[in-house]
Amino acid sequence: MFYKRRNHEYNYEKTFTALGTINKITAYGKKGKDAIEAAYKRVLEIEDRMSAFKDGSDVMKINRSSGIEPKKINADTFNLLSRSLEFSNSSKGAFDITIRPVTSLWGVGKKLNYIPEKEEIHDVLPLVNYRELLLDKENCTAYLKRKGQAIDLGGIAKGYAADEVKRILLQYRIKDALINLGGNIVVLGNNPEGQPWCIGIQNPFAATGQYIGTVKTTNRTIVTSGSNEQFFIKDGVRYHHIIDPRTGYPVKNGLLSVTVICESSTNADALTTALFVSDMADAIPLLKSINAEGIFVMENQDVFVTEGLQGNFERSFNI
Ligand code: ADP
Ligand code: MG
Repeated sequence: MFYKRRNHEYNYEKTFTALGTINKITAYGKKGKDAIEAAYKRVLEIEDRMSAFKDGSDVMKINRSSGIEPKKINADTFNLLSRSLEFSNSSKGAFDITIRPVTSLWGVGKKLNYIPEKEEIHDVLPLVNYRELLLDKENCTAYLKRKGQAIDLGGIAKGYAADEVKRILLQYRIKDALINLGGNIVVLGNNPEGQPWCIGIQNPFAATGQYIGTVKTTNRTIVTSGSNEQFFIKDGVRYHHIIDPRTGYPVKNGLLSVTVICESSTNADALTTALFVSDMADAIPLLKSINAEGIFVMENQDVFVTEGLQGNFERSFNI
């Protein structure tokens, strides 16, 4: 029997601001419009629950009750907190959502370009400890043990939202789609030419939209962290927004950007953040643990690509 190739004459897209970034969902198929609307609402719901900056969010509730009492939260948020703690364990603490007292000092998310005093960091660093975020599954509560402790889901929430958008599009039987939540990309099916999607990997040395290379893929997520967007340079030193929980300072290990490609965008998002902080020796086991491939761009312009991507990653020459 002959099947008409997929319905690419129905092409819908929506660009919107949420989760502190610009997002774009493109979906093909008759139900594309409804699917995108439903997905969009879900992203806003996730933002309402998980933003560290929104009054009434679960995260705000937990942060305001640290050292006081456990707070009942949505199952949604609870599950993402559990997964965050799992990541803290598997990354030996490199990924730690209790980093918030330190990211606040650095003004992460606020673009203040402020370098805290050593003493300020010294004072709040002991508050960073994922083991002191206590989750009670039965009552669906979360509790930070000590006053001043606070969480920040900035390193994982976009990935979770991207997975949720994918889930909803699939519910609407969308087969081909491109989801981009502030650089957390998920692709479904094929592009309008009926080929796997060709995704550009941001060149961290250049302006947004310029690529160091491309990867062709389908039904996967591609997440890049540490692009050229969230950093500032002061007195010749480059500071960015991923903080080493051991030191309280932005990580300096020669890595400029890291891209993770795998099935779950939640995993990929947390892992990009963790890989920034981890020793390079831990990077490959971490990638393998979630069945992921990676692209590492170093400050000295070296680019490392894991085995499974070789032959797929095509390097551009404009680095
Ligand atoms: P983006 O996609 O915005 O670049 P990332 O996935 O790279 O985000 O995560 C960076 C965000 O994660 C920061 O803005 C901060 O909120 C949070 N963060 C910073 N350092 C850590 C850390 N060591 N562990 C967990 N989250 C972190
Ligand atoms: Mg991340």
